[in-house]
Amino acid sequence: MTWHDDRFSRRPRMSTDKYYAMVLNGFHRRGDSPQVAESNARLESARYAEACRKLPTAYEDPQVYSILTRLDDAIYSAAKLYGYPVETRPVIGTVQSGQINAATVIVPETGEHLLLLDPGLTGLALLMSKVLALSLATPIGDGPKVEFSLSQQAIARRLDSDPQIEQRFLDAVLAFAVHERVGNAQQYFLSGTLGGVAGAFCTSMELFVIGHEYGHIIRGHLRDPAASEAVVVDNAEVARIAYSWDQEFAADAYGGALGVTAFIHSYGGGPALGFVGASAFFGCLEIIERCQTLLQTGAITPRSQGTSSHPPSTERRRHILEVLPVIIDDHEVSDTSVRLAVGVDTAMCELWRRIEPIVHRLHKEGVRPRRVWRAS
Ligand SMILES: [Zn+2]
Repeated sequence: MTWHDDRFSRRPRMSTDKYYAMVLNGFHRRGDSPQVAESNARLESARYAEACRKLPTAYEDPQVYSILTRLDDAIYSAAKLYGYPVETRPVIGTVQSGQINAATVIVPETGEHLLLLDPGLTGLALLMSKVLALSLATPIGDGPKVEFSLSQQAIARRLDSDPQIEQRFLDAVLAFAVHERVGNAQQYFLSGTLGGVAGAFCTSMELFVIGHEYGHIIRGHLRDPAASEAVVVDNAEVARIAYSWDQEFAADAYGGALGVTAFIHSYGGGPALGFVGASAFFGCLEIIERCQTLLQTGAITPRSQGTSSHPPSTERRRHILEVLPVIIDDHEVSDTSVRLAVGVDTAMCELWRRIEPIVHRLHKEGVRPRRVWRAS
């Protein structure tokens, strides 16, 4: 396969002043007080300016790159805390692959690892995180505390009382399943505590994805010569491993452990929200895959069977829940984390149940996915 296509182009660069004005406007719109908005905007534009200085190639979007490097720093620190061997740190970057996906490749000449993410991944994570926060979380008082309503009945009641949540979900799913572009979903801001919860869900998912790729590096999966398939990235020959299912499960366990630790140590969050991203990420994969299959074939198909290289998302989700007690050895905390993860899955199932007839109707009207989803 080749990643060098028409979507692979130099990114236009926004000036730091313009970026500051844009993020300040965003913080105002999400309900931050003037002082908090200005302080957040200064911090974000400083990160943006640093990302612009450190861009490895002119093809990177500095906004996405600034988020990714912060996530990568957090996972790298977590790996060091565990004492895991990461001999040489991977070079992180984005590739518009058209799949909502991440991959680690090795450069044969130098032995360096490239950790590549599709920018669509962060977009999907953010859109889904906002829908999940709306479906599950209720702020308590004026402070930062929230209560999660995780039963199927409570979630159904919430969705009944606010039909816009279902609409937002449909919008997010179609933006990716049909158009593969975050920009096709209508933009909206979540203010205050709900915005914080959505941000936590999103960071948790992204940390898991990067932690999973670190898992492959730590376990030396890329140096296994048994299963490599050549791909071309920007004219450099690199080898991509067709991982076995066992390797994927192992990498998932590392992703869960590193993600939770990074979330606690680098983002100041708690273990349940730190863990929920692993489960939520598989939920997102499942939904996009189901939507694309339904649009393509018109058939409501059972959950995916996986591919030769990757287990089905449902299996990976079940496995990560099984290893959770090893990751979090405090029973009470581990139980709370499982309850939140199961609640997220319940919300995704309930949301999908509601939009499935609409997607089916769209298929009958001739709407098709732009390209058929391939499992990650
Ligand atoms: Zn993998």
